[in-house]
Amino acid sequence: MTEITRAPGPDSRPGCGVGRYAPSPSGDLHIGNLRTAVLAWAFARAAGKGFVLRIEDLDRVRAGARERQLADLEAVGLDWDPPVVVQSDREPEHRAVVADLTRRGLTYECFCTRREIQAEIAAAGGAPHGAPGAYPGTCRDLSAAERERRRRDRPPAVRLRAQAQEVTVVDRFAGQVTGTVDDMVLLRNDGRPAYNLAVVVDDAHQGVDQVVRGDDLLLSAPRQAHLADLLSLPRVTYIHVPLVVNAEGARLAKRDGAVTLEDLQAAGFGVPDVMGWIGRSLGLPGSVATASDVLDSFTLLDLTGGPWVFHPPGKLSDSGVQP
Ligand code: GLU
Repeated sequence: MTEITRAPGPDSRPGCGVGRYAPSPSGDLHIGNLRTAVLAWAFARAAGKGFVLRIEDLDRVRAGARERQLADLEAVGLDWDPPVVVQSDREPEHRAVVADLTRRGLTYECFCTRREIQAEIAAAGGAPHGAPGAYPGTCRDLSAAERERRRRDRPPAVRLRAQAQEVTVVDRFAGQVTGTVDDMVLLRNDGRPAYNLAVVVDDAHQGVDQVVRGDDLLLSAPRQAHLADLLSLPRVTYIHVPLVVNAEGARLAKRDGAVTLEDLQAAGFGVPDVMGWIGRSLGLPGSVATASDVLDSFTLLDLTGGPWVFHPPGKLSDSGVQP
């Protein structure tokens, strides 16, 4: 594991809590990811908090992506407190937490394939509680004999026996967000921890009390808060920020053109240009060229404008400057 250790931020004050950025190493960070990372860092530092990173590598991992992501975060001027946690290193902890929930009677084995779940939802005329994708509970009450038989066909996933509680969280921008917690997967059927569980366990492990991330994850927050409650872990405060989108309004992706730091640099744009665009997208006045410029004018931050539409520039000579 690559350990990049940096001194704790000069402004972090003991007892003020910790913010974090938790990228998935599935590829290079694009300007939307960088903007969210800068915001997470600035929200933490502006509040005197520590700031930590976590590499969320339980899904698809691209070789070298983790190292390039850390290098890009450093290049835009972020600092963080060691150690950088690599989520897969913590799988034994995740499994121990699920074992504990199982001892408390709060889990069950699920043998459904994705297709079977979709068919069940379609046959029932919709997902439970009208929540898209919510698990219809097919395996909730299987007999021991039936579970034994099904285990011979395929390994089970482990789900939370959630009892459909409504959980409300407060988001800094969205306000009160209420979701019905469904029987979410805790361990996938390949034995690996599922995202919602790992996030909650690892945020607590890292002392995180402030979560800043893209608003595509807003509806995960009630589930995660519920898990924190069940595990007697402190709830975090949530700040979901608008995503960066392409000209069609879809979430920005690498295929949209020059969107990574490397691509933008190849097109003739440096970190100060990129940070300048990010600063303008945040409504910050004056010339922003570094992450610390964002922090300096943080009280003027304006995120009320919705998603930021990013037009990938062409070559510098094409005057591909952001509007
Ligand atoms: N790893 C997730 C992502 O890159 C973020 C999870 C989170 O911030 O809770 O989309």
